[in-house]
Amino acid sequence: MASLSLVNVCKTFKNGQIAVKNFNLDIRDQEFLILVGPSGCGKSTTLRMIAGLEEISSGELWIDGELMNLTVPQKRDLSMVFQSYALYPHLTVYENMAFSLRVRNVGKTEIDQRVRKAADVLCISHLLDRKPHALSGGQKQRVAIGSAIVREPKAYLMDEPLSNLDAKLRTQMRVELSKIHKELGATMIYVTHDQVEAMTLGTRIVVMNSGVILQAAEPKVLYTNP
Ligand code: ADP
Ligand code: ADP
Repeated sequence: MASLSLVNVCKTFKNGQIAVKNFNLDIRDQEFLILVGPSGCGKSTTLRMIAGLEEISSGELWIDGELMNLTVPQKRDLSMVFQSYALYPHLTVYENMAFSLRVRNVGKTEIDQRVRKAADVLCISHLLDRKPHALSGGQKQRVAIGSAIVREPKAYLMDEPLSNLDAKLRTQMRVELSKIHKELGATMIYVTHDQVEAMTLGTRIVVMNSGVILQAAEPKVLYTNP
């Protein structure tokens, strides 16, 4: 189960740049929530504040009914997937996916089960012994997503994860992401500037501009009342 609440969340950077203003949103369990809007509108900053990678200037963040501490970094059990796949070049696909569990002292059998299950969901079981250099861009991105899945996070935070892929792979990966979302019953918060991506993936779409929410609605509603 994962539900998140952002209450009057604001972000002003040290240089005075206001990136996010009075952001109010409840994110429900198993939502595929999209943050969409033009470059510079505050999407990444919002996601990074949820992840704990960027301090929240003012406001409240609740995760599963627990108020997060804004100044002391705290374990939030969220997995971030970035645009550029951060894989360890000397480790195999299996070892890459297992890495974050090993450092958390998860047992070998448990690691093995989680890695094989994630590989199955992502259709990369046949690639487990390969090193990253022998993978295509799409395969690398799957491994990066796999590394997030094995951690069994409360929610997945994705920042333009498909924008480095070519058009064909991007379309294919959108289908895969929808499948993963359903199969895992996952809560996803997904940043994109691509409206087509927003419409095809989202169960709800939050449209941002200049640091504020313009609209938050299901794709159908946005499509008929743009
Ligand atoms: P988006 O993800 O929608 O492209 P960002 O959240 O990256 O937008 O940025 C929102 C605004 O905050 C932009 O005006 C950007 O230039 C600014 N910004 C982002 N990071 C910083 C930073 N570290 N310091 C100052 N301003 C920043
Ligand atoms: P993205 O939006 O894909 O993260 P950006 O080019 O917006 O890429 O940001 C790259 C890095 O620079 C980020 O760490 C961001 O916080 C920082 N940054 C962005 N805009 C500014 C800014 N105006 N001043 C200082 N740092 C910034």
